[in-house]
Amino acid sequence: MLYPQRFTQFTNEHADTLAALLCGLLLFLGWLALHLGALGWALLLLPAAYVIGGYESAREGLTTLIKEKELDVDLLMIVAAVGAASLGLWRREYHLIIDGAILILIFAISGALEGYAMRRTERSIRSLMSLTPDTARVLHQGKEEVVPISQLKLGDEIVVKPGELIPTDGMIVSGYSTLNEAAITGESLPVEKTVGAEVFAGTLNGYGALKLQVHKPAESSLIQRVIRLVEQAQTEEPPSQQFIDRFERGYARVIVIAGILLATLPPFIWGWDWETTIYRALTFLVVASPCALMAAIMPTLLSGIANGARQGILFKNGAQLEKIAKVRAIAFDKTGTLTTGQVQVSQVISTSEYSQLDVLKAAATLESYSEHPIGKAIVQAANDLDWVRGVEVQAIPGQGITGIANNQKVVVGKATFVQQYVAQLPESLYSLAQSLEQEGKTVVWVAQGCRGAGVQGSKGDYEVMGAIAIADMVRTEAVATITCLQKLGVEEIVMITGDNQRTADSVAQAVGINRVYAELLPEDKLDVIRSLQKQYQIVAMVGDGINDAPALAQASVGIAMGGAGSDVALETADIVLMADRLEKIAAAIKLGRRSQSIVKQNIAIALGFIILLLIGNFLGNINLPIGVIGHEGSTVLVTLSGLRLLK
Ligand code: ADP
Ligand code: MG
Repeated sequence: MLYPQRFTQFTNEHADTLAALLCGLLLFLGWLALHLGALGWALLLLPAAYVIGGYESAREGLTTLIKEKELDVDLLMIVAAVGAASLGLWRREYHLIIDGAILILIFAISGALEGYAMRRTERSIRSLMSLTPDTARVLHQGKEEVVPISQLKLGDEIVVKPGELIPTDGMIVSGYSTLNEAAITGESLPVEKTVGAEVFAGTLNGYGALKLQVHKPAESSLIQRVIRLVEQAQTEEPPSQQFIDRFERGYARVIVIAGILLATLPPFIWGWDWETTIYRALTFLVVASPCALMAAIMPTLLSGIANGARQGILFKNGAQLEKIAKVRAIAFDKTGTLTTGQVQVSQVISTSEYSQLDVLKAAATLESYSEHPIGKAIVQAANDLDWVRGVEVQAIPGQGITGIANNQKVVVGKATFVQQYVAQLPESLYSLAQSLEQEGKTVVWVAQGCRGAGVQGSKGDYEVMGAIAIADMVRTEAVATITCLQKLGVEEIVMITGDNQRTADSVAQAVGINRVYAELLPEDKLDVIRSLQKQYQIVAMVGDGINDAPALAQASVGIAMGGAGSDVALETADIVLMADRLEKIAAAIKLGRRSQSIVKQNIAIALGFIILLLIGNFLGNINLPIGVIGHEGSTVLVTLSGLRLLK
């Protein structure tokens, strides 16, 4: 029963069940015929049972043998059964033919059971995601038209009625409703949304009617991307499974050689008769096969992935379940991760030459292009002022943003960044900014080019207009999460942020983190992760932004905030928290540990059975059918044990 093949190739759902049933029927009739003395009939019915029950495995096994020159365990089963039948014919001990047929039957039944179990896991993963409707109601010259979602164009306006599923990601242009986003976030508490908010395909509209504008192609909606990620997760094998696969190939060879030795040597050594010898060698082939070992890992991990997805924790592959179980240090980004990222402008300060409105407007012209929470807050604060979007805008992750607004060069960003452009930061503003930072606020500076536009700026070409203080809220669950992670035995928890030391310290203190690395550029974050890895080997990084992507990639386990996070973070991370809830990190660790302990139990069960059966066989205490039942029984047992995680 070669596991990985079985779960990737579920083409015909019921064929294996049907084959097992037919095989059982033929076996029964053959057995009856034998007992009634109708030998001719028995010799017709029993081989038919062999063919129907064993055809698929024999075909797969032979293909592997011929094409890849690899022995797989399925083939050993067939060889053992056919061997038993030949022995029976040769010795005219026809019950041996029955023994062989029982082997084939049980093999077929357990194959069908495993198939069923794997399909259940697959279905359970898929059912989470299969909620998007195929059509949408598009507004076309005031009339509603139902079109397939693949034909939606950017800018189309679609109508979603109360109680309907959202067909594709879009922005609300009119209406107000509460939406159930459980399909994406795992949270069943409805979320209120109104004009300007983004809604996601696959989520369920509440009582309000909504008009949406389509702003991205249907195939790149969040849920479609999540589905693709999960599909990938299912086909990728974690290192432990790859190890088992390699092990299986070598092991199969060893079994064959040992089987041949067992079939030939004992009569000379211990004086066994030939029939006993060959019979035990055939039984050996069956019980020594590592089928249960092969089934120990993947069903468990797939069930774990399904379980996680249901809670809004998206594991991109099974290997991450193994890794997160062993995490010893975790680094948290600040803005958008430990804090909500739903930041608000709390104060605008300006030099005497400019007004507060000038400062806000100038910043907003550039920030209207920004993905960063700070940018969004500034744009929101400037919403009612009149300004036009800037040009040649360039974001510098972890630092700020530059561009041209109203023919004037403008830079917005942290103090050290803006200092590269201006002669100096005005003393009075600077001390005001410092005290705001001590309160945990983030201060960004705004400066304008003062000697004509278009020239590449250099130090002193700019003058400070003012600064904007932005208040962020620490996530309510942050403190509890940090405590919980410490209880789970995570040895080191640090904060790594691009923000300044004062703001960072203030937030760290609020959430209970003692080690803070501030004023980091994206590549500095990566370095911190590296040095943590030297000390703790397995290190997780939690982040949301573009500036976190390098660190997420470097970390042993990259965890991204999915709902609010940037696309880059979603792509780079290994685990995505769809609901943006920090406490899911602890849940993910627990899930990882549970799946690891089930995998370990499974391996122990599998090895235990193999050893017991081998000893029993050697002592002559078991016959072929008992060997098969023990062997296949343990395989089914570990498979079902893995499915426990689905609950
Ligand atoms: P964090 O690491 O906490 O998520 P970032 O690395 O994204 O923060 O940003 C670090 C600092 O760089 C911010 O605190 C801010 O001062 C500045 N900054 C980054 N992007 C912008 C932007 N778009 N506009 C203004 N300032 C920015
Ligand atoms: Mg961030």
